[in-house]
Amino acid sequence: MTQNFTGSFTQQEPIPQAGLDAAMAVMQHGRLHRYNTAGDEIAEAALLEEEFASQTGAQFCLAVASGGYAMTTALRACGVGHGDRVLTNAFTLAPVPGAIAAVGAAPVFVGVTEDLVIDLDDLAAKLDQAKVLLLSHMRGHICDMRKLMALCDAAGVTVIEDCAHTMGAAWDGISSGRWGKFGCYSTQTYKHVNSGEGGLLISDDATGMARAIMLSGSYMLFEKHRAAPPPETFAQIKYETPNISGRMDNLRAAILRPQLRDLDTQARRWNDRYDVLAAGLADVTRLTLPHRPPEENFVASSFQFLLLDWDKDKVQQVLQRCAARGVELKWFGGAEPTGFTSRYDSWRYAASEPLPNSDRILAGIVDMRLPLTFSLDDCALIAQIIRAEVMAVYQAA
Ligand SMILES: *Cc1c(COP(=O)(O)O)cnc(C)c1O
Repeated sequence: MTQNFTGSFTQQEPIPQAGLDAAMAVMQHGRLHRYNTAGDEIAEAALLEEEFASQTGAQFCLAVASGGYAMTTALRACGVGHGDRVLTNAFTLAPVPGAIAAVGAAPVFVGVTEDLVIDLDDLAAKLDQAKVLLLSHMRGHICDMRKLMALCDAAGVTVIEDCAHTMGAAWDGISSGRWGKFGCYSTQTYKHVNSGEGGLLISDDATGMARAIMLSGSYMLFEKHRAAPPPETFAQIKYETPNISGRMDNLRAAILRPQLRDLDTQARRWNDRYDVLAAGLADVTRLTLPHRPPEENFVASSFQFLLLDWDKDKVQQVLQRCAARGVELKWFGGAEPTGFTSRYDSWRYAASEPLPNSDRILAGIVDMRLPLTFSLDDCALIAQIIRAEVMAVYQAA
C-alpha cells in the first residue's frame, strides 16, 4: 500500500506560552507604540533590540516593520538612492530586488552555483558595477564568507546581508549578519521566529545605525533606544534624515523575545528534520543535494534538491505525483512566477542580462518548506515519497 502524507507545509508551531503572557501584558497596559512608555519603563521593542544585539554580538540593533523594510533602510543608510546599481543574487525572493527598486536603484544580478550560493566568480567579474552588494543567504545556503568579504573589501564594495533564512546560522563561527555592514532579518511567520510581520537590523556602524534609527521613524526619541549609538552620533543626522515610518510595535516585540531565547533549540530541531530528509534522499539517481561545507552552520527551515538537466515536463510530473501524495514542492524552473516563487527574469521592473549557467540551475531547483510541526517520522515519509516518485518518473523516461 502506498502511504500519503497529510501534514500542512504552511502550519507553524503556536507562539510559546511566555510570548502569549507577554503579549497579554502589553495589551492590558495598552502602550503598544514603542515610544509610549510610563515612567522609567523600558519598551518591549527596546528590550528586543538589546537582546538580539547581544545574541548576535552586534553593537547596535533596530526592530522594524518587516524584513523588506530592514533591507531598504540598510540600503538608504548606506547612501544608495535613485539611479544607483546594487549587486544582488539572481536566486532569491522578490523582496530583495524589491528593496533595491524601492530606493530607486537597479539590481545587477549575480549567478547561483549548484550548491545554491552566490557564484563568487561571477561576483568578482561584476564588482566594478556597483558600490553595494545586497547578499541574500537564500534558503539558508551560506557561501564562503571569507572569500566573499575579501573580494568585496578589495573592491570597496559594501556588503548588506539578507538573513531572512539564516537567523541563528553562522559561517566559520561568525554569525550570519555579522560579516557585512548591516544584517537584515525577517520575523514574518515563515521565518525562524514568528510575529506575523516584522524585521530586525543589526550593525556595528554607529553612523549607519543612527541613520537607520532616524529613517525608521524615531522622531527625536532616539534616546529611548538601548542598542543604539550614543546621542552625539545623532547631532547632525537627526536634521538630515527623513522619517520613513516602519517601526516595530511592543506587541510584536513581546511575542518575539521568548522565541529568540529558544532559537538554538529550534535550529537543532530543524536540522534534525533536514538530516532525516537528506539521508532519505541520498543516492537517488539524477537527484542532487547541495553540498554543505563544515564551515556552514545552517538552520534548515527549508529543504532543496536539484533535478539538474531534467526535461521540464518530467520535473512537472515529479511535482504532480508528489502533490498527489500530499507533498507540496515548489519549483524555480516554472514558466510563470507562482506563490512565493519567482526568478530574476520574472521581475520585469528590473532589467537583467541573461545568466545561462544560473538558468540551468534554477530550472532544476525544487524547494520545500520544513515547518517544525513535522515530526521526524513525517520527514522520513516525505523523503520516501519524493524518492519513489523521482525514481518512477526517471525510470519511465
Ligand atoms: C521573507 C524574505 C525577506 C523579507 O521578508 P519580509 O519580512 O516578508 O519583508 C527577504 N529575503 C528573503 C530571501 C525572504 O525570503
